[in-house]
Amino acid sequence: MSFTNLQRENFINRLRSQQFDLLVIGGGITGCGIALDAALRGMTVALIEKNDFASGTSSRSTKLIHGGLRYLKQFEIKLVHDVGSERAVVHRNARHIVIPEKMLLPIVEEGSLGSFSTSIGLLVYDILAGVKKEERRVMLDKHQTLKAEPLLRSEGLHGGGMYFEYRTDDSRLVIELAKSAFAKGATLLNYMESKGFLYDEEGQITGASVIDNLTDESFEIRADAVVNACGPWVDLLRKEDNSLKGKRLQLTKGVHLVFPYDKLPLQQAAYFDVGDGRMIFAIPRNNITYVGTTDTVYNQDLNHPHCTKEDATYLLNAINKMFPAVKLEMNDIVSTWAGLRPLIFEEGKSASELSRKDEILVSESGLLSIAGGKLTGYRLMAEKIVDLVARRSGKKYDSCKTKSFRLSGGEFENENAFKKAYDSIIEEGTSENIPAAKISEWFYRYGTNTARLIEQVKILRTKIADSEKLFEAAELVYCVENEMIYHINDFLIRRTGKIFFDRKNTEKQIDYLSNLLSLQLKREGNGIVSKEDATLAKLAFESAVTFE
Ligand SMILES: Cc1cc2nc3c(=O)[nH]c(=O)nc-3n(C[C@H](O)[C@H](O)[C@H](O)COP(=O)(O)OP(=O)(O)OC[C@H]3O[C@@H](n4cnc5c(N)ncnc54)[C@H](O)[C@@H]3O)c2cc1C
Repeated sequence: MSFTNLQRENFINRLRSQQFDLLVIGGGITGCGIALDAALRGMTVALIEKNDFASGTSSRSTKLIHGGLRYLKQFEIKLVHDVGSERAVVHRNARHIVIPEKMLLPIVEEGSLGSFSTSIGLLVYDILAGVKKEERRVMLDKHQTLKAEPLLRSEGLHGGGMYFEYRTDDSRLVIELAKSAFAKGATLLNYMESKGFLYDEEGQITGASVIDNLTDESFEIRADAVVNACGPWVDLLRKEDNSLKGKRLQLTKGVHLVFPYDKLPLQQAAYFDVGDGRMIFAIPRNNITYVGTTDTVYNQDLNHPHCTKEDATYLLNAINKMFPAVKLEMNDIVSTWAGLRPLIFEEGKSASELSRKDEILVSESGLLSIAGGKLTGYRLMAEKIVDLVARRSGKKYDSCKTKSFRLSGGEFENENAFKKAYDSIIEEGTSENIPAAKISEWFYRYGTNTARLIEQVKILRTKIADSEKLFEAAELVYCVENEMIYHINDFLIRRTGKIFFDRKNTEKQIDYLSNLLSLQLKREGNGIVSKEDATLAKLAFESAVTFE
């Protein structure tokens, strides 16, 4: 079996007929991390996701695997240490999508950190996070800082700190986790929603009733343990379990704005003061630069967080203040995204003061809920909760194996092997007349699986003459066959990020890709409903630049 909706019926048959050791509800980074950890220990695992994998918060983050410098300001020393050292592990296990990125921290007159405290802060950060020598912080004077970033406001600038963060693609990290868990025997399915729990006579949880969101068909999944990894939706499931007592979630919204690179042509990523005690990131990535984030308490519709005019104005003001020459305006924004942080409520704390620590909540029925945390700490969160599942089961399972487990696409022994693989795939691709830039783009998205996309180009070449269409088609078909896409937005938003990062080219291809996807899904007469959903993609295009 492959990880494809072309074989959806087989996935459903497995889900409805097997007694699983563990059922995970929620297919974001938390749920998929748990599924992989449990599968590697020898558990039989099911995971269901009501929408697409990573469609919740896990595709809407700042896309950094970071040591959490901001937590140092809040004296969360253990958190800085844990996420900081974990960052190296996440990088090692998925080198193709977790990439070191230079970050400039300007020190300004009215900023929250002075030169001395920044220098000490970054040093402590390097030590706590176990940063390697070549990536340790370098302090810059005013002149050096302006040389590193000529767009910075010179007035009130004291200097800067240059340090390293790791850039990622959040939704690709989720999908690589899901693919890896599947390869290790887990059964994961998107567009499958839990609608209530099953209990035995003692009121202990034994599974969930689910509905297939593509066909409206309902059935039951049975498992010895059930984990609620629903991010912002965690409390809704706790409510269904009648266990919403004590600790609760406090959701906060964060938005990002995307600009064409030439409108905000930064030399490297920057992390800077807004002026109200908060700090934001500006991160160049290929042809764009994205900026974020906000942090405001959120009590509205969980399914459709949106960037408001107020959010956009807040970020625009912050950028224009720090980089006055760019003079960005509302209509320079080419796209936006908004996400919800599933944080644990703390009395009397403002949105940005709330801890990002994760917590496990165990209900009387045995439902295990996990919330809080970061992308960066996903593996540690998974280890903690799977340890608990194993303990409660009374069965003997292997101990956690994820620390050295290379994710799908990231199977490189070390940095050298990674570089060698890059060179060799470029050679292989260009010998097939695929431009090096395209291969490189694929390599930083699919890693070792890029070879499969090249194979796809060879197969499709006889049918598609236009080379731009050929490459798009090869990528789409790969995602149909190996990455469980169903809607065109699964491909355009979560597998490739094209809607945010390559709007111009993608807009031209929407109709072509939507039709191709529809044909692909029908091709094996597998009975799955397939709609022409170019309209959905067009709506997503529009909503990314429409403000309420
Ligand atoms: C603006 C912002 C910026 C951030 N930046 C960073 C960063 O740079 N680095 C970092 O490390 N962290 C960052 N974070 C934090 C990080 O993104 C989150 O901690 C993480 O993505 C949460 O993942 P999750 O899997 O718990 O939740 P989600 O990704 O939301 O996953 C939960 C899933 O459960 C599904 N679900 C809900 N109900 C059901 C149901 N009934 N049945 C089946 N499925 C269901 C949802 O559809 C959803 O996909 C950021 C967060 C935000 C909001």
